[in-house]
Amino acid sequence: MGAAGVAGKVSEQKMEESLNLFTSTQVVIKEALNKLGYADEMYELLKEPLRMLTVRIPIRMDDGSTKIFTGYRSQHNDAVGPTKGGVRFHPEVNEDEVKALSMWMSLKCGIVDLPYGGGKGGIICDPRSMSMGELERLSRGYVRAISQIVGPTKDIPAPDVYTNSQIMAWMMDEYSRLREYDSPGFITGKPLVLGGSQGREKATAQGVVICIEEAAKKRGISIEGARVAVQGFGNAGSFLAKFMHDAGAKVVAISDAYGALYDPNGLDIDYLLDRRDSFGTVTTLFDNTLTNEELLELDCDILVPAAVSNQITAANAHDIKASIIVEAANGPTTLEATKILSDRGILLVPDVLASSGGVTVSYFEWVQNNQGYYWTEDEVTEKLEKVLVQAFDNVYQTSQQRKVNMRLAAYMVGARKMSEASRFRGWV
Ligand code: NAD
Repeated sequence: MGAAGVAGKVSEQKMEESLNLFTSTQVVIKEALNKLGYADEMYELLKEPLRMLTVRIPIRMDDGSTKIFTGYRSQHNDAVGPTKGGVRFHPEVNEDEVKALSMWMSLKCGIVDLPYGGGKGGIICDPRSMSMGELERLSRGYVRAISQIVGPTKDIPAPDVYTNSQIMAWMMDEYSRLREYDSPGFITGKPLVLGGSQGREKATAQGVVICIEEAAKKRGISIEGARVAVQGFGNAGSFLAKFMHDAGAKVVAISDAYGALYDPNGLDIDYLLDRRDSFGTVTTLFDNTLTNEELLELDCDILVPAAVSNQITAANAHDIKASIIVEAANGPTTLEATKILSDRGILLVPDVLASSGGVTVSYFEWVQNNQGYYWTEDEVTEKLEKVLVQAFDNVYQTSQQRKVNMRLAAYMVGARKMSEASRFRGWV
């Protein structure tokens, strides 16, 4: 028998970032509830998740040793319906981040008008250094540890950073074994043969593209020939660069963690996709690269941050030249920068709206599982388009009528539904 070990230690910098994410989310929720005219009690209810479960999961490693992993599941508010949100496997997962992300899920579900509240989960681990067997045991162990508070009508997990359809399949199988009946509606993001939905993989990028199209209409910009710069060339960034390219836009810049590529006449996206590695890296193959900072300040019509958080700050917000920014990444713009951009008349489509295509198709997957009848990819795309156009319109109208920026407007739309549901239930 090997020695017992504790897996993972989160850096202080990450803990501070997560706390900032959590408190800045609270600040905007408070402002949104004030604008909507709710009393302080509503903020007291919504400022923290209703439930946060911390679990410790002992896993037998391949070398015979046992490691104890820490996992979380946060359920922000279930007044509207079951909670919903991904499970993240990452060495820097921590409680504040999981809490903040579950609050974002509540807002997203409210914005796209799904019958859910927000949830989120995570395990502190580094899946890149684990074998398939270890990952399977960890996935199953997590489900056993949280099984009392999750389920198709309680809380429905999904993939997130470093989790995928295989992990969802193991989790679904474990839950079905525990309950002794097949439960495809327990989790979304499953492989197609286990009840996954057509179009789930591309859904986030498709949602971003729909928001870009709607924002462009508002600004009188034609997609045909529009100059688009995309920061990040991973799952989200590469799909949306391809969709924009196919729609006739000129994708003038893309980037990865190592630098950016720029061509004012438009990059050959198909070629770059072909050369990209599985981590979304391609710029290392070229000499004439720009920095990620330079990409943000390029002369273009539409800027899409699709990589990491805190990229547009008070330090560079004055130098952004795009007239539309659509946030595909989570939290790429700080609150100070949001104010500067909005004062400069730049139309910023916030993350909680722009990246809600994924949870929308996750909802479609759950509906298909519940009814046992499956849709074609065209049906999924058509339904997604309707939901997101309506959501964009609601947020845009709110921002115009209440004279607030699009981020605050999105928080107002997102918070309204859970506040009303909480009120009708007699909670506040
Ligand atoms: P990913 O890991 O597939 O790709 C990330 C990309 O960003 C890679 O090209 C990487 O090289 C690049 N990158 C990493 N660090 C960078 C840096 N410092 N500067 C510039 N580029 C950097 O991730 P993803 O799934 O595409 O997610 C990207 C963002 O979109 C994240 O903020 C994520 O939370 C958000 N998002 C993704 C989804 C989804 O379904 N994939 C859904 C909602 C939100």
